[in-house]
Amino acid sequence: MPKKTVESLDVKGKRVLIRVDFNVPMDGTGIGDDRRIRAAIPTIKSVIERGGRAILMSHLGRPKGEGFEETFTLVPVGVRLSELLGRPVAFPSHDCVDADAANAVAQMDDGDVLLLENLRFHPGEKGADLQFANKLAAMGDAYVNDAFGSCHRLDASMVALPTAMGAKPRVVGLLVEKELGFLSEALKDPARPFVVVLGGAKVSDKIGAIERLLPRADAVLIGGAMAYTFVKALGKNVGKSRVEEDRVKDARRMIEQAANTGVELHLPTDHVCSTAFTEDAGDIEVFDDEIKDGYMGLDIGPKTQIQFASVISKAKTVVWNGPMGVFEWAPFRVGTKMVGTAIADATDSGAITIVGGGDSAAAVDEFKLADRMSHVSTGGGASLQMLEGRPFKAIELIEDE
Ligand code: ADP
Ligand code: MG
Repeated sequence: MPKKTVESLDVKGKRVLIRVDFNVPMDGTGIGDDRRIRAAIPTIKSVIERGGRAILMSHLGRPKGEGFEETFTLVPVGVRLSELLGRPVAFPSHDCVDADAANAVAQMDDGDVLLLENLRFHPGEKGADLQFANKLAAMGDAYVNDAFGSCHRLDASMVALPTAMGAKPRVVGLLVEKELGFLSEALKDPARPFVVVLGGAKVSDKIGAIERLLPRADAVLIGGAMAYTFVKALGKNVGKSRVEEDRVKDARRMIEQAANTGVELHLPTDHVCSTAFTEDAGDIEVFDDEIKDGYMGLDIGPKTQIQFASVISKAKTVVWNGPMGVFEWAPFRVGTKMVGTAIADATDSGAITIVGGGDSAAAVDEFKLADRMSHVSTGGGASLQMLEGRPFKAIELIEDE
């Protein structure tokens, strides 16, 4: 069911509570990557350019929930937001629901932007506390959920707050609308061939997504650390690669399911390996088929890269979640870069291409491929939950169109 969006909201003179996801990576005191801030701009502009008063709420990091902590202040985020908007952003106080915050909101003019301090300084946020949500609800005339990266969470600002709004409007923002569009609508009836590329750290993280996508896809490509659990399930030697022993049975079952249903399941056939989990062990070897004892697979090998790229080149829809290797380290980044480039090329040839997963999105950024993807999700956990086909409580509480 499509949800009402911020554009349908009459915002003039209204106090609009906008839950955004400004949980950005911080390096030292600065912002490491402002993608999530930029992604929220269209919704904020939609409100303020029509004379609404934008009250922004977010969490940042994992503070203790016992009050203000300098390390997790949203002030640097607000500064960046102000630069991006080209207008001032007000910070009322260290507590998102105290009297100072409420006063600052009461004094806003039409078109103003205010950023409440980190919601997680308050125990009520993680505690899904209704009283805390009631205080937030009292500050606004309408609620906008534009925090896609948090949509899988049950925190107060995501679930208790829309509930506490009662009869006041509850809508989604433009980012959430776009994310839901790509990750759910586009996958309902994908243009074929539909190719799913999965990788990353753990089979256990992605098993729900594999189970749901395997019967829907024409081809599934598996790389990254999780591939070794599958390779082991084929009975091959994987040396000391990361294997989840308790998932080998699941992997075997999925290999059989793919074979029985005619879905192409591609696993790495050669591997870039090292004896130690470090960037510069200096003993990198490529093994065909079986990995020698003492070595671990840290990237897909050159034959696999070509094989994966060839399957991707024929796709009309691609979903990618999880890097093909330890892309953070130069010797093991090639597989991820090759696959990313193949997906970008597929976009150029008319395919719909969707990237989910925090590390995958970071890789796409690093390789300067983001502009060549149809959609790069701003949510790791949230995009995975969508690929698993599990609905969000936070979105169920938004009004239907
Ligand atoms: P995403 O955030 O895109 O969903 P994950 O969090 O599942 O991806 O996995 C990303 C991590 O997996 C990266 O830090 C990467 O270094 C690691 N990784 C990928 N391949 C391997 C491998 N062969 N061995 C160990 N770690 C790996
Ligand atoms: Mg990750």
